[in-house]
Amino acid sequence: MNEHDSEKVAGVLLARGYRQVESVEAANVILYNTCSIREKAAQKVYSRLGEYRFTQKEGQVIGVLGCLAQQEGERIFTRAPWVSLVCGSASYRKLPQMIAELEAGNRRVTGLETDTDETFETELTRRDNPWRAYLTIIEGCDKTCSYCVVPFTRGPERSRASASILEEVRQLADVGYTEVTLLGQTVNSYADPSARRMRFSELLVAVAEVAGIRRVRFTTSHPRDFGKDIVEAIEAVPGICEHVHLPVQSGSTRILKAMARTYTREEYIEKIELVRASKRLISLTSDLIVGFPGETEKDFEETLSLLDLAQYDGAFSFKYSPRPNTPSLKLGDAIPEEEKARRLAILNEKQREIQRLRNEGLAGQVFEVMVEGKSKRERQWSGHTSSNKVMNFTSRVEESLGDYVQVRVTGATPNSLVGDVVGE
Ligand code: SF4
Repeated sequence: MNEHDSEKVAGVLLARGYRQVESVEAANVILYNTCSIREKAAQKVYSRLGEYRFTQKEGQVIGVLGCLAQQEGERIFTRAPWVSLVCGSASYRKLPQMIAELEAGNRRVTGLETDTDETFETELTRRDNPWRAYLTIIEGCDKTCSYCVVPFTRGPERSRASASILEEVRQLADVGYTEVTLLGQTVNSYADPSARRMRFSELLVAVAEVAGIRRVRFTTSHPRDFGKDIVEAIEAVPGICEHVHLPVQSGSTRILKAMARTYTREEYIEKIELVRASKRLISLTSDLIVGFPGETEKDFEETLSLLDLAQYDGAFSFKYSPRPNTPSLKLGDAIPEEEKARRLAILNEKQREIQRLRNEGLAGQVFEVMVEGKSKRERQWSGHTSSNKVMNFTSRVEESLGDYVQVRVTGATPNSLVGDVVGE
């Protein structure tokens, strides 16, 4: 989402006559988009801002965007007085006006309101990838997971009208995009604010039906709002990619309750059974946290046993990191770093083995791959399958980036597939 926010911010400024430059040194305005999901990311921001201090040119505007901007607010001006703009994602609509204020001589401007019901819509946004486009359909989050800064930094949920989304998808298809990823912190909580009241699963189908669009992805889904209708849409429409990212965070109902995730282990398992029962081979990925305050060895073992059950195709796993303004802050951070690291290593190792076996099991199957990269090695290419697996493949012909090819799997690693183009 941050990457796409950066694209949208760049798009807004380009439309106002700004030009993007290649280096920080050449810029008159530097907008630094930030993340504060974990302590480490937040620390990096201040260290990077420290570097800008020494390279700052006369009159150069340095602005901080994103979740750390929202979280730290005007404190950033105290810690880094060379910064003149601080703006959280819920206020990006105001960015052009804020920059104009700086140009008019204001020394410092902030955009820190989150109580907006507007979404940050832009004209056809400049995008970094010529074939695959991100598209935010819902901003903010109304869930209150106890460890998470997002409701505080990105504000409440605001969905974008379905007609506006579909119009942008048509524009994207017209200029050659074939794949779109619908984005939202809880993308499947989408609630069409227009009279059409399109459900999320209906929106998926409508986007996939736009002429020229071959693949529709969506991320991230919240288990509570994940229903059978989404699986049915994937089954019915080949253009909807066979991949669901459904973060569980913990396999223990006790910890899920402490995390305020709003579902139990059993309820989550019901959701993944929906996915696994599908006629299409849908890949399933997840996010996990180890070392949440109060997580016992038994809780952790329940997370491990959930991995066995879920058979995820991929997982992003992290050590718990207490964040400012979150309810779980008051629970402390009692589990020592070494213990968190031990649990994370065990979990990663187990998940790696699951992925290795799952990927090896795909040997001999043929998948459609979008050609996205050329390796330095001759005849070696890479891309993604509909199930979002990385495929490294050999082709004797000179492939065109952005094309779709059929590739047969000949080998596998835990994180990627290896194959040959069919018919050569
Ligand atoms: S659903 Fe929970 S973890 Fe996800 S953004 Fe919302 S509060 Fe954060």
